[in-house]
Amino acid sequence: MLQGTPILVLKEGTERERGKSATQNNIAAARAIADAVRTTLGPRGMDKMLVDSMGDITITNDGVTILKEVDVEHPAAKMIVEVAKTQDQQCGDGTTTAVVLAGELLKRAEYLLEQNIHPTVITRGFQIALQEGQRLLEKEIGTPVKADDERMLVDCATTAMGSKGVFGSRDELAKIAVNAVRKIVEHRGERTIADVDQIKIEKRHGGTIADTQLIDGIILDKERGHPRMPRQVKKAKIALVNSALEIKKTEIESKINIKSANQIQSFLDEEDKTFRRMVEQVKATGANVLITQKGIDDVVLHYLAKEGIFALKQVKESDLQKLARATGAKIVTGLKELSSSDLGAAESVEEKKVGDDDMTYVTGCQNPRSVSILIRGGTEHVTQEVERSLQDALKVVSSVLEDGVVCPGGGATEIDLSVKLKKFAPSVGGREQLAVEAFAQALEAIPWALAENGGYDAINTLIELRGAHDGAGANRNVGVNLVDGKAADMWKLHVVEPARVKRQAISSAVEVADMVLRIDDVIASKKTAPTPPGGGGGHDH
Ligand code: ADP
Ligand code: MG
Repeated sequence: MLQGTPILVLKEGTERERGKSATQNNIAAARAIADAVRTTLGPRGMDKMLVDSMGDITITNDGVTILKEVDVEHPAAKMIVEVAKTQDQQCGDGTTTAVVLAGELLKRAEYLLEQNIHPTVITRGFQIALQEGQRLLEKEIGTPVKADDERMLVDCATTAMGSKGVFGSRDELAKIAVNAVRKIVEHRGERTIADVDQIKIEKRHGGTIADTQLIDGIILDKERGHPRMPRQVKKAKIALVNSALEIKKTEIESKINIKSANQIQSFLDEEDKTFRRMVEQVKATGANVLITQKGIDDVVLHYLAKEGIFALKQVKESDLQKLARATGAKIVTGLKELSSSDLGAAESVEEKKVGDDDMTYVTGCQNPRSVSILIRGGTEHVTQEVERSLQDALKVVSSVLEDGVVCPGGGATEIDLSVKLKKFAPSVGGREQLAVEAFAQALEAIPWALAENGGYDAINTLIELRGAHDGAGANRNVGVNLVDGKAADMWKLHVVEPARVKRQAISSAVEVADMVLRIDDVIASKKTAPTPPGGGGGHDH
């Protein structure tokens, strides 16, 4: 019955691309993204200036920032962007490396596809290479470090910040990052945990990068609620409240019929009593600092000031949580629930002038694992780039403390893996061997890009590196010295990275290359018109 009748599976007008051309197209898009960030790799990488639709600019060298900001259309290109984000979340560093590697793996895969090697064989080969690569990283390339090896931690932080636009202040910033992370490290049984989200970062432009400082405690971008409040409270007892200290305005406009002056007075008296009661409730608990997430009525602020209570209003929820952890306070939902046992403690709560504005410093907290970094710098662009660099450095230091393994940077790890994987490939055999070899070659893209971005002849550098990693007297720590483009021992140049960054970069790269290679059919579904608000609600497929 169906004979001769074409079966329409897809809606008319659906765009579809199949087989090789679909794969080629995806590879081309993914490679385009990789090419866009390749020139930013390493300390000699170039910066990108990103301009958004509002005309705001960001100048950065940070792979993930570039990819996040750029509006990418192609689905395969979007997958690459996702990889960069994963890498960033897991390690805070190595995003450009992961993307460049992914692009390079796909370039090599394309060549294999042209030789009629099936995508499944290629992805299988990549997986084999990845597994062996991870083993090599752990067993043969990584070097264990002790948590108290400060020099090594600072070197890792410096290397992570090496490529960012903060060159002049790198060493000071690296020390700040190391000190900050060491403060928040926890030991739970066998495990070491360094959760850098506990470190509060505030930035204020003005001053110079050198004024950036580590503060023992929590800093808040807020000034006290009333000028008569004390500027500083010592032996602070802190109440944290997440509701408003105001009289609720009713949703519907209500009319109050007031017939006489007496009534007005009693109405106002009533309001005043409520406000006074609020302040009494705070005072009764013994609190001398009150911090709320919502607003505080001006009259309440006035009475609080009279009582010598320091108050901050409209503090972000995440900051309230940090304060709770730092001072041991419990966040309460209303003044009624507030009791003296909910209060937190700090040596001092003080408003200080930073640049043109005031900030509040909560120092000497009950919990010693509360630290903040106050970033300073000439302009907003500078403080933003400092923040991005510090985020990388903090994550890197925490990775080293948590895992205790480092690798040489400057392309040394990649070239060593490459040389070792080339030797390993014949043991794989079959067509997968070709994919393992392709993987090994792809790794050379990292030292290549580092040398090229430094303005050196990458071919010469690579030949030197291969030689240094092979044969008698091989040294696995030899990478690109960006001062002269020659091969040098990265250990001696203090260019080191957490093993985690390398491990994650190669696995992210393989993951996305596999995803792109597995797709042989791209079907663009027609966009369904969005349902108008309130209308219908049924889905139109
Ligand atoms: P990613 O986003 O991948 O971290 P970067 O632009 O930060 O990219 O560059 C990181 C690369 O630069 C790493 O391979 C690292 O080892 C290398 N690198 C950093 N500092 C130096 C240096 N002083 N000499 C040589 N290579 C360096
Ligand atoms: Mg980096």
